[in-house]
This record gives sequence, structure tokens and C-alpha cells, in this order.
Amino acid sequence: MKSDIRVCGDWEAAHERPVYTLGDACPECGADAVNSAPAPFNPEDPHGAYRRRARLRARDDG
Ligand SMILES: [Zn+2]
Repeated sequence: MKSDIRVCGDWEAAHERPVYTLGDACPECGADAVNSAPAPFNPEDPHGAYRRRARLRARDDG
């Protein structure tokens, strides 16, 4: 069975560190709590590849 622990979906903006909860909302700021399975902070910035692709595309245009 998967863990029920969730993390504040807005912790990066609202807190200095992830706020975990067993409920549906962050107990501190009330934001939606999201499943903590996908790491709240990704070592491999998922937007990095996207940004790279966007830059390549821009270069193609020029
Ligand atoms: Zn919060």
C-alpha cells in the first residue's frame, strides 16, 4: 500500500521547506496537499529539458 503522506502543493512559495500532512490540505497554509510520491523537489529539473528544447527551436528559426 502506498504511503498516504502528502506534501503541501505550494510549499515552495509558502514555506521554507516541505510541509507534510496526512490530510487533503496543508495544515499551515491550507493549500492543496499533493501526493508526495513524485518528489516535491526534483534533482533533475523537469523543466530543464523543456527549456533546452525551446532554445533549440528558437535557434532553428534564426
Ligand atoms: Zn502549505
